[in-house]
Amino acid sequence: MDTISFATITELQEKLAQKKISHEELVDYFLRRIDIFEPRIDSLLETFDKKSVLPKSAPTGSLAGIPGVIKDNICMEGRVASCASRMLEHFVAPTDATAIKRLKSQGALLLGRANMDEFAMGSTTESSVYKKTKNPWDVTRIPGGSSGGSAAAVSAGLVPWALGSDTGGSVRQPAALCGIVGIKPTYGLISRYGLISYASSLDQIGVLTRSVKDNALILSAIAGQDAKDSSSLPIEQKKYAQHLDGVLPTGIKIGVLDLSIEGQGVDPEIASAVENAIKVLENLGGTIKRIALPTFDYSAAAYFILSRAEAASNLARFDGVRYGMRNKKATTLTQMYRSTRHDGFGDEVRSRIIVGNYVLSSGHSGEFYENAKKVQRLMRCEITDTFKNVDVIIMPTHSTPAFKLGTYDASKLQIDLQDYFTCPVNITGVPAISVPCGITKNNLPIGFQIIGPHLSEELLYKVAYAFEHITPWHTMRPPAF
Ligand code: GLN
Repeated sequence: MDTISFATITELQEKLAQKKISHEELVDYFLRRIDIFEPRIDSLLETFDKKSVLPKSAPTGSLAGIPGVIKDNICMEGRVASCASRMLEHFVAPTDATAIKRLKSQGALLLGRANMDEFAMGSTTESSVYKKTKNPWDVTRIPGGSSGGSAAAVSAGLVPWALGSDTGGSVRQPAALCGIVGIKPTYGLISRYGLISYASSLDQIGVLTRSVKDNALILSAIAGQDAKDSSSLPIEQKKYAQHLDGVLPTGIKIGVLDLSIEGQGVDPEIASAVENAIKVLENLGGTIKRIALPTFDYSAAAYFILSRAEAASNLARFDGVRYGMRNKKATTLTQMYRSTRHDGFGDEVRSRIIVGNYVLSSGHSGEFYENAKKVQRLMRCEITDTFKNVDVIIMPTHSTPAFKLGTYDASKLQIDLQDYFTCPVNITGVPAISVPCGITKNNLPIGFQIIGPHLSEELLYKVAYAFEHITPWHTMRPPAF
């Protein structure tokens, strides 16, 4: 295998520093790789031409010359940000998202727009109206979602890193299904300015990479307070990759869910890979404590209600008047609203808007929305209490490996319920990282999640790196790439 396709960011930085390759050649290299391999996986909605990617003068900063791709719900000035929807097919972002601005100021090079579920609603990337992304490990299977394009591109070695967004698991779940690392940081750590909203109180930009250290390098560039997002936390920018030494913090207590594995429908191969990961951490000196999180049983239902309610409010802005698609054939205003929203949104988005308006409606909000908020409160108390006794919590990221394309339509509810392990993290606002921890007999990747208290990203990276350091999973590649 060549030394560039799957190189880490640090390795690429060394090559650039030693002048073994220039940033222009690196861009050429990855654009060529995209030309060759992208048709097999359909991970990108657009690849930018080389001229428009290269900065006018040599890039400088902590990510100088390092190429990546961006989920199509994050705004890049002068580029389309379509959210994989007809509604925003021709919407050109007037400004950079704060995360993009920071990446550019650190010299990162942005090669394209990654495919996603429409408006980030889904777990398979099949609700994109443009194309269905395939899992590089088996192109008959889904890459996960909703950041499936970002995950597939990184997994196939088309770029070393990608940004995604995670409202209920959309970075961690595709990371797990594609065999890479994905972090959903603490709510408020990364500015949401320029991230097109799905459910604002749960949305966070996340990072997808093939290694823990790469992940920490990208997060370091984009995290930190932003005056343009009042929900961003007053946190200084940190260097998350600085203290990664492979050593587990002494005395660390690791909470492990007593998985009634059958109950959650966890695939036996996933359960055993996660149990093995726990043993690895125990051998490294971690103290394992079995814990119970009973409110988790209500999290998928609460997530279902809260996310739809917020989606209905957020997506009300797409009315054909201010921006996005407008049905020009309509002769009255009401007709224009109706037909624009009918034709502009796909089935999944329309159904979420309808459910969202229903759970917020005056006759039903007490029963649905307000109860879901109460569940959220209980979950927050439970997780805060749990972190008084343990430092991190370990659990599977997803209960099954990647499934076949086309399964979602047939078993929507079952697949929505599989947000079980990921959405509690969004509901409680804490950070979590998914790390590769195994391969199934069918050669499909498995990932596990490390969850920590608010703003524990440094600790999560330390634990994840200690695990990665002595296990082979992050070095495994999809065979056809
Ligand atoms: N699977 C979840 C959903 O469909 C996750 C979405 C997300 O995190 N953006 O809502």
